Amino acid sequence: MPLLKIIKYPDPVLQRVSREVTPLASGISTLIEDLEATMRLHGGVGIAAPQVGVLKRIIIVDVGSDKGGHGLLRLLNPKIIYSSGKRKGREGCLSIPEYRANITRSRKVHIEALTPAGKDITIEAKGFEAVVLQHEIDHLEGILFIDRVTDMKRDLFRREPV
Ligand SMILES: [Zn+2]
Repeated sequence: MPLLKIIKYPDPVLQRVSREVTPLASGISTLIEDLEATMRLHGGVGIAAPQVGVLKRIIIVDVGSDKGGHGLLRLLNPKIIYSSGKRKGREGCLSIPEYRANITRSRKVHIEALTPAGKDITIEAKGFEAVVLQHEIDHLEGILFIDRVTDMKRDLFRREPV
């Protein structure tokens, strides 16, 4: 499983809209495996294909399975079909490693997607998992978390060096 290079802001590829994918098309399952390995190497909880320069509608999310999370989610062509509530929380991104920001998102979302095997699924997510799903689906539209910061002075932070 080769690790993929993460594209960093301000590379313009991150602002482009990704195309829908066909689940069993050639190269898709390898891409999914490589995306997951790349996400894990960097300690991320989510990654979207455009972050490795591939403009395809594929996201991987894994916030674990405690606190009501679904564990590993590998979603193709994900779409938000329902959202409710508001929640403000701190976000970061593998493509913008130096910054974090407070972003307002929906508290609950329902997502329709295809599995890598081509099965229709609906995911009902809340809390942190819902936030990560919204963040990754934004990547497929070319939207970055910093695009959603309403007050740069108050809500954008340089990440503390560790
Ligand atoms: Zn991101």
